[in-house]
Amino acid sequence: MPTLNAAIKDIEMPWRIKDLPIDERGFPVPHFVEWIDGKPDFRVMSKRAMVACVKHHLCWICGQPLGRHLAFALGPMCAINRVNSEPPSHLECARYAARACPFLARPHAKRREVGLPEGTGAQAGIPIDRNPGAVGIWTTRSYRIIRVDNGDLFELGNPVTVEWWAQGRPATRAEVWQSIESGLPILRDMALQEGPKAIDELHQRIAQAMPLLPPEPDLTETNA
Ligand SMILES: [Zn+2]
Repeated sequence: MPTLNAAIKDIEMPWRIKDLPIDERGFPVPHFVEWIDGKPDFRVMSKRAMVACVKHHLCWICGQPLGRHLAFALGPMCAINRVNSEPPSHLECARYAARACPFLARPHAKRREVGLPEGTGAQAGIPIDRNPGAVGIWTTRSYRIIRVDNGDLFELGNPVTVEWWAQGRPATRAEVWQSIESGLPILRDMALQEGPKAIDELHQRIAQAMPLLPPEPDLTETNA
């Protein structure tokens, strides 16, 4: 799809992204991508990269050292759970990914699971396996690793900022809310299985997340 690729190429690359290897289509290959038979498979996360990023405080996307601010690219449901399956990045790198990555940037892009090497498709924890529709960038100064049966999860520290993207541009409150609303039944079912305390907790988490959504549009401005 030449128009799509052209659109991605129009997005200005942060300087650290420019240092990444380039695939045969001309796209930068993020640090976390696994190389299989000499070719990057964008659907497979490298376990080696995961260990290196956590151990050496490196950016998940560009692989270069992180500063004090840690930016997590996440779906709206992760903003409610305050848990992510991927380690943090530079804010500029996360922003670039939110705009350029086909899975993050376009709500209707489906993940291709065909031909995935065995055992590489699954994320740690109980991932909500759907395209989130809007991407949040949760910037914080801390996180904690939670060990679960099938890997590690990242519990997010309090946010310094949270911004939202959809289809390569800033997301509206309605878009983020729509994405939360469509995913809530999944969280609710999980909480129901755990009992009333889990449901109370879920309601609290939703209430906590609401102020982090984009603000309502200012209608007085358009009427003036
Ligand atoms: Zn980076």
